[in-house]
Amino acid sequence: MSRDCLFCRIAAHDLDGDIVFESEDVLAFRDINPQAPTHILVIPREHIPSAHEVSSAHAGVLAQMYALTSKLADDEGLSEGYRLVSNVGPAAGESVPHLHMHLMGGRTMTWPPG
Ligand code: AMP
Ligand code: ZN
Repeated sequence: MSRDCLFCRIAAHDLDGDIVFESEDVLAFRDINPQAPTHILVIPREHIPSAHEVSSAHAGVLAQMYALTSKLADDEGLSEGYRLVSNVGPAAGESVPHLHMHLMGGRTMTWPPG
């Protein structure tokens, strides 16, 4: 838990978040500035700054994050497909340095992203 980290503080219920799922290891909450009808952020409780710092020691929590995105996609009715995105570092647009996966769906996605 990093006191300076927005997502650590949401995970600790120190700041409000629209939390849709939480367990001992992972958390999901709705993005405050949604870019699609469904836009949920899935994070590990552990403060991992970005995907670049992920190691094999994180295998378990990463699997939990992917399993959770599948469950949430089902819950949200995204049977036509959805997008999972992790921005890594400032050039890719990472604005909160705590690993998070964007789950976006409910509209057609274009490729390549901007
Ligand atoms: P990224 O730019 O990839 O680091 O994604 C960070 C995301 O966090 C952005 O989509 C923001 O809209 C979202 N965000 C920022 N503050 C909050 C908050 N307090 N609650 C929920 N989502 C947030
Ligand atoms: Zn954090």
